[in-house]
Amino acid sequence: MQTNKNIVVKKFGGTSVGTLERIENVATRVLRDHTEKGESPVIVVSAMSGETNRLVRLANDLNPYYRGPAYDMLLASGEQVAVALLTIALEKKGAKAAPLLAHQVGIQTDAIFSKARIRSIDTTKIQALVERGVIPVVAGFQGVTEDDQITTLGRGGSDTTAVALAAALKGSACEIYTDVPAVYSADPRLVAKARELKTIAFEEMMEMASVGSKVLHFRAVEIAAKYNIKIHSRSSFEDREGTWVMAEGNMLENPVVSSVTHDPATVVIKLNPVPAGAGFLADLFGRLAEKNVVVDIITQSASEKSGKSAEGWQRLHFSIPEEDLAQTEKILHEILKAETEVTILREMAKISVIGVGMKNHPGVAARFFKIFKDHKVDVHLVTTSDIKISAVIDKSQLKEVAEALHTEFDLDA
Ligand code: ASP
Ligand code: MG
Repeated sequence: MQTNKNIVVKKFGGTSVGTLERIENVATRVLRDHTEKGESPVIVVSAMSGETNRLVRLANDLNPYYRGPAYDMLLASGEQVAVALLTIALEKKGAKAAPLLAHQVGIQTDAIFSKARIRSIDTTKIQALVERGVIPVVAGFQGVTEDDQITTLGRGGSDTTAVALAAALKGSACEIYTDVPAVYSADPRLVAKARELKTIAFEEMMEMASVGSKVLHFRAVEIAAKYNIKIHSRSSFEDREGTWVMAEGNMLENPVVSSVTHDPATVVIKLNPVPAGAGFLADLFGRLAEKNVVVDIITQSASEKSGKSAEGWQRLHFSIPEEDLAQTEKILHEILKAETEVTILREMAKISVIGVGMKNHPGVAARFFKIFKDHKVDVHLVTTSDIKISAVIDKSQLKEVAEALHTEFDLDA
């Protein structure tokens, strides 16, 4: 039996296949690596850039509350186009390629529409194609349920398809081609002195993904960590090394803080008062979870609402991604009584510092908050983990704070 040594899963993002010319460039590059490095490529592609957003708009214009099989079917269609075009481009250059949608591969997911999770991948067909010298071109972002419904894995989910496929094929690495040449210590559009990282730990990358860095899909990194698949995040336009996402133990150095990241699309919701005790919280967060709304930071404290005794009541503040606001408002409407005042703070941003080195270095929080004090920035919510500290602030102050933190933690290029 042939080993999987030369199989390399290569994922191309939306901008990498954004035009026919770029699709042809991808085909050329894949075939060159095949010839020069002896790789057997398995390709995963995203929809052409802007396409998924366009499809989301169409659905929302009809009904912003609809989520379900038809929504996923609609969104998944973008990848179908890209897969077909790249296959045509590869064949035009003399290669043999096979276009594959998720149901044709056998990428099984659960039935949580819009945020489905991969349960299993059948590699039989892909292996057979590779053995015959055919390049499988697989649609990212989509899956199929047990009863043949099309699902999608959440925005940015093509990364997850690629890493899951690499794991299923028992590979040790996965290439993710994108429009940025590397993972940076901060978003260069926000922090001019951001620098490229050669390596970053799975754990750090997961934190970055969860605080809104759009570099890699969270689930992709989670799967990579679980199956120890190194992710090489690199440019599809430049021919050079990017950033390796790998196990912490393999990295040469762990700075105290390796990145300053932000999420510019956060909404803070303040409820005052709500019934004290876990019953109300369980009900609210249970309903949000059912709709797959990811509640981020939660704080509660005794209510100070005048005219009402604080006993039996509490204040509740939490943050959610902007995209989940409509769903959340609907749920609040269903369960809140008239006495609860709802304040929604839009135009919020979450700023975080992340680093595995924090585990062994005290004093990071003190340095973090000193920056806010020096810059007279109000902090609406705070949260920490052993390798991350985050604060929600007004979006208008984001740039100033991000730059100051980047300098404070010795990250400037
Ligand atoms: N096309 C999908 C999106 O835009 C999936 C992806 O690009 O990874 O979210
Ligand atoms: Mg992406």
